[in-house]
Amino acid sequence: MSTVRTRIAPSPTGDPHVGTAYIALFNYCFAKQHGGEFILRIEDTDQLRSTRESEQQIFDALRWLGIEWNEGPDVGGPHGPYRQSERGQIYQRYVQQLVDAGHAFPCFCTAEELEQMRAEQQARGETPRYDGRALLLSADEVQRRLAAGEPHVIRMKVPSEGVCIVPDLLRGDVEIPWDRMDMQVLMKADGLPTYFLANVVDDHLMGITHVLRGEEWLPSAPKLIKLYEYFGWEQPKLCYMPLLRNPDKSKLSKRKNPTSVTFYERMGFLPEAMLNYLGRMGWSMPDEREKFSLADMVEHFDLSRVSLGGPIFDIEKLSWLNGQWLRELPVEQFAERARQWAFNNDYLMRIAPHVQGRVETFSQIAPLAGFFFQGGVQPDPALFAHKKLNADQVRQMMQWILWKLEALRTWEKDRITACIQQVAEALGLKLRDAMPLMFAAITGQANSVSVLDAMEILGPDLTRYRLRQALELLGGVSKRENKEWEKLFAAL
Ligand code: GLU
Repeated sequence: MSTVRTRIAPSPTGDPHVGTAYIALFNYCFAKQHGGEFILRIEDTDQLRSTRESEQQIFDALRWLGIEWNEGPDVGGPHGPYRQSERGQIYQRYVQQLVDAGHAFPCFCTAEELEQMRAEQQARGETPRYDGRALLLSADEVQRRLAAGEPHVIRMKVPSEGVCIVPDLLRGDVEIPWDRMDMQVLMKADGLPTYFLANVVDDHLMGITHVLRGEEWLPSAPKLIKLYEYFGWEQPKLCYMPLLRNPDKSKLSKRKNPTSVTFYERMGFLPEAMLNYLGRMGWSMPDEREKFSLADMVEHFDLSRVSLGGPIFDIEKLSWLNGQWLRELPVEQFAERARQWAFNNDYLMRIAPHVQGRVETFSQIAPLAGFFFQGGVQPDPALFAHKKLNADQVRQMMQWILWKLEALRTWEKDRITACIQQVAEALGLKLRDAMPLMFAAITGQANSVSVLDAMEILGPDLTRYRLRQALELLGGVSKRENKEWEKLFAAL
């Protein structure tokens, strides 16, 4: 039997998501339990949204958790490159193979044509989909248009009837009707592959034997299966993991729960507790014990103990588990781990320059700058009373600033300042008019060290968390307000 090889294939388009860590953990455990290998591949074909910063954050977050990979963009390996953006030629070659074999075809439709097709289908009460019109073109015409360099995409053919059987390791055979599948674009007009093509080609070339991925990918599985068939490749074993959910059962989203691994790091959770908790999502140890290490999980891992009910990611439960871990550390370890978290020289050296000029004794440091060592803060709601804005406008301003900061990718004081200034000016105010609100939300106090510096030092996760908390404290944002403000915000 060939070696088990699994992978995590994140798209580096934002903060490192706990869902990525969860899927990585299960792939890791599965591989290690079988004495196999775990690979990290970066799926960065979306050039607009992918960034190197986000990629680095994914590496850091997984390493912080203690998940290491045998092959990947930063560690190399025999099947590289491990970044899809560096594999362009490979996809070109394989898509051509599909076209030559008649499994895929060029489509010259313009955006307007597709839009019209869609509108007409909707008017007839049909599900919008590509109608296959390019298949009616004669071979000569296709050749002529290709030779003339007309912009085109490559689409795959899909059966129009029958069902596709998706063999899922958790659910058994899942039947999905072919008429739900569109003639998926495999290669875009700019010559870049879509997820479907790149994912199948890479899993094959990288020798992946088992794919554990999130359940949200199950509905599109037939397209992947068809591609394996067209290429004549053996399909890896498939496993669709249950999605993490908010306590209200909706899909885990950052509106309701912080979803970035780095947030949990900054809040002072232990990586081993975090991993333990992610392992508890939909899986349990044979003896049902709550607290277990990564090594325990690898040793006892078994897909038959994964349950399909959507596991709920609940910060309170995570905190409880973290408490178990913390209390069981030898006290020297406890002190050492706390030191590593925020009582370390680097962090103190970032804070010291802002504190030194404002104290007369060391004993004044904690009251002035204690918020640097907190997760949330508890500002007095009275601190949000504003000279020029009413209570609703205050919330609107804070929400806008939060949205701006959520989109900010480079976390530097100047950029943070620019975000706040832009919002203030959009509301006919000055930067300084926004400052008292920021002070209250971020430091929890009426005054302290410079709040813009404090935001930079605290980092994006805690800054955004505190702004969200302040909004909650002020009564939250209704659905209607959210919609209204979003519209106005988009026009900024
Ligand atoms: N790039 C996809 C993602 O970000 C990979 C999904 C898969 O595992 O196939 O989730």
